[in-house]
Amino acid sequence: MSETRLPLLFDLRGRRVLIVGGGSVALRRARTLLAHGLKVKVVAPEIRTELRRLLGEGGGRIDKTEFRPEHIAKNDFVIAATRDTTVNQQVAACARAAGIPVNVADDPQASDFVFPSILERGPLSIAIAGGGSPVLTRLLRRRLEALVPAGYGVLATLAAKYRDAARRGISDRERRTTFWEKILQGRVVDAALAGRGEEAEVLLQQALRAADPLAMPGEVFLVGAGPGDPGLLTLRAFDLLQRADIVLYDRLVADAVLALVNPAAERVYVGKRRAEHAVPQPEINQLLVTYARQGKRVVRLKGGDPFIFGRGGEEIERLCEERIPFQVIPGITAASGCASYAGIPLTHRDHAQSVRFLPGQLREGTIDLPWRELVQPGQTLVIYMALTGLPVIRDQLLRHGMDPATPVALVERGTLPEQRVTTASLSSILQALAAHEPVAPSLLIVGSVVALRARLFGV
Ligand code: SAH
Repeated sequence: MSETRLPLLFDLRGRRVLIVGGGSVALRRARTLLAHGLKVKVVAPEIRTELRRLLGEGGGRIDKTEFRPEHIAKNDFVIAATRDTTVNQQVAACARAAGIPVNVADDPQASDFVFPSILERGPLSIAIAGGGSPVLTRLLRRRLEALVPAGYGVLATLAAKYRDAARRGISDRERRTTFWEKILQGRVVDAALAGRGEEAEVLLQQALRAADPLAMPGEVFLVGAGPGDPGLLTLRAFDLLQRADIVLYDRLVADAVLALVNPAAERVYVGKRRAEHAVPQPEINQLLVTYARQGKRVVRLKGGDPFIFGRGGEEIERLCEERIPFQVIPGITAASGCASYAGIPLTHRDHAQSVRFLPGQLREGTIDLPWRELVQPGQTLVIYMALTGLPVIRDQLLRHGMDPATPVALVERGTLPEQRVTTASLSSILQALAAHEPVAPSLLIVGSVVALRARLFGV
């Protein structure tokens, strides 16, 4: 079943509309109609102060009386928005008899026209119409709100402003379409969305002036993919996955996150497993440079947060040297994701005032960490890459004086549907894990906050 009414954008400036009713629906309608240049008249015995004020400021008229059929004449549209369905029906009947289109609040069946839910971004209108469920419409609208940030208004204004200039500069129609496709997915968008409207305009002007407007420089985005659950991506990350030309990703990036990459984008796996480097770091750095030089929008997708044990720093150093524009989009680091999904608050007034993120990987049988500091009370330790070195970590902490009863948790595949949490005391964690083969990625949390899990999650 499809909506039989056709959504159209009509210029209704100067048209007359009669609103019967003085409550919240009338207020909403009056606000929209005045904003679009209609001449509004409200008829009702009681009129809300806000509506009165709005009409006063917006040049609307008021007739503080009960509705009478003669009110209908000379209007182009009528809106029946009283709380009384009998009155609404009467208004609709009068309007129909006079051949004037009518809208009845909350009754699309009885209406000739309906109001879509409108999302405005500058000169851009997104309307959601029909659907039969106002709640569904509202939820959908909320999703669109998030997907289409306010910066799209700036973008739409810019595109309109430079439309003629582009037509003059790039006469070939197909090339011009390609130009706009590139502009409206490239750096101009990033500047506009980040609220830097002036920079967006300068970039657009530069592109138009370039000898070859289609040869735009590429850019690299170091994007945090979070610990696994795609719901933990930032909106910026999601937007970039949609606009990427090419995505370079690690083993840590979850399949569910990769599923959100735009299908037209090229995907390059540069993953690494412990000790087995699929693509050595300098080569990854070089790939980023090469693809950006080809004018591509390169997304370097990294598990968790790019700046936490992610070698993000090394990758951007190289980009800096090569003068390639880049941006870093933070992600939820494994510590935050695992702790939340396991019910372990990393700090707590009564347990830990600080938290330390530490790398636990083994190098030639040892782990180089400031053990003496780590056994101090009042802190939580979150040890990344701790699986292979777990026996060494336990021994070192015990040797440096940590209480053997200190609660610890190993979180495997945190935030994913397969997440497994094993809690034990420091001295018994290895026995507790003997029952199953722990899998990567996994994270060790050490400290009395781990005991709160039982209270918070009831486990
Ligand atoms: N930049 C990443 C960390 C990279 S180091 C971040 O901010 O999360 C890789 C280590 O991260 C793994 O060895 C593991 O300890 C941890 N890790 C990443 N994702 C994880 C997950 N879903 N569950 C548990 N640990 C995870």
